[in-house]
Amino acid sequence: MSTGTIARFDTTGGVRIYRIPIRTFPQLVTNIHVVIADDYVALIDTGSGLEESNQQLQAGLTALNEQWGESLAWADFKRIIITHSHIDHYGGLGFVSSHTNAPVAVHELDRRVLVNHQERLVLASRALSAFLWRAGVSEDSHTTLMSMYAWSKGMFRSIDISTVLHDGDLLDDMFRIYHTPGHCPGQVCLQMGDVLFSADHILWRTSPHISPESLTPWNGLDHYFQSLRKIAAVPNICLALAGHEQPIETLNERIAAIEQSHQHKLERILDICTEPHTIKDLSREMYAKLDGYNILLALTEVGAHIEYLDQRGELAIANLDEVAADQRIAPQYRRV
Ligand SMILES: [Zn+2]
Ligand SMILES: [Zn+2]
Repeated sequence: MSTGTIARFDTTGGVRIYRIPIRTFPQLVTNIHVVIADDYVALIDTGSGLEESNQQLQAGLTALNEQWGESLAWADFKRIIITHSHIDHYGGLGFVSSHTNAPVAVHELDRRVLVNHQERLVLASRALSAFLWRAGVSEDSHTTLMSMYAWSKGMFRSIDISTVLHDGDLLDDMFRIYHTPGHCPGQVCLQMGDVLFSADHILWRTSPHISPESLTPWNGLDHYFQSLRKIAAVPNICLALAGHEQPIETLNERIAAIEQSHQHKLERILDICTEPHTIKDLSREMYAKLDGYNILLALTEVGAHIEYLDQRGELAIANLDEVAADQRIAPQYRRV
C-alpha cells in the first residue's frame, strides 16, 4: 500500500492546507493536515507514535520546506488539534510535543483518553472484555483479541491538554467546531470557510467504523446517524479533507451513501436473524476471511448494528432462559 503523496489545497481566503499521508500502522495510512495562514500554523492530528509514523511525519515537514517552498520549523506551530482520541490520530503527540510547545486542543469527551490514558485503557479493556463474552467468542479468541487491543495503546503516556473543545466553538478564530460523536465520543469536524476537516466521521470510500454505545457512551449508530445529519445541514462545503483516503468533493452525496450502506447492513442483519445468531456468528457470516485487528472491528461493528435494532425492539433474544441463568452465555438474536 502506498502512502500517497503530499497534496496542497489553497482556500479562497488564501490559507494553504497540506495533506500529509503517513503510515501509522502496517495496514493503515492516516492523513495529517498542516494549515498555514500567515504566521498561524496548525497541525491537525499527529499519527500513531510508532517509529515509522514519526519518521514519515518528520519527512513530510521536511518536504514542505524542500519541495513546496515553505519555510517551516517545529517552533512555528501555534496549535495542535486532535480530531478524536483514536491512536492513529493522537499517538504521535509525545513525539510532536518533544519538538513544539504549541497548545493541544481536543474535544471535552476525548480529553480523558489523553490526560488519563492508563485509567482509560484499563476501563476500556474491561468493557471490551465483557462485550466479547457477550458476543460469543471462544476463550482462545478472547485472549488474542484482548492482547491485540492493548498492544498499540500501551506505549502512549498521558499528556497535558491546553484547550478543551466544545460543540460550536470557534478555535483560534479559524475553525468552527462540530461535535460529531458515533465513531468516537469526542469526534469533531472542523470547518474553515468552505473546507471541512471531516476526520474519521466521513471518509471518501470506507464507511467509518462504529462500535456499540454500550461499550463506549456516545459511540453507536444512533449518535452516528445524528452526526451525519448535523454535517449534512452545514451549508456551502466544497471540499472535505478526511483522516484517511482521498478528499471528498460532493460531501452530501457521500453522507447519503454512508447512511444507505448502514441501512443495508441493518436489513441484512434482520434477514440473517430469521434464524437466531450470536454477534460472533453474524460477524463471521457478514465478514468472511478477516484476520488480526479486523476481526475485532467486525465484531464491534456488528455489535453496534445489533444494538441499534435491539434498542428499537426489532430483535429479541432467542435463548433468554440460558442468558438469564449464566452471564457467560452469549445472547442469540432473532428477528421479531
Ligand atoms: Zn478513528
Ligand atoms: Zn483513523
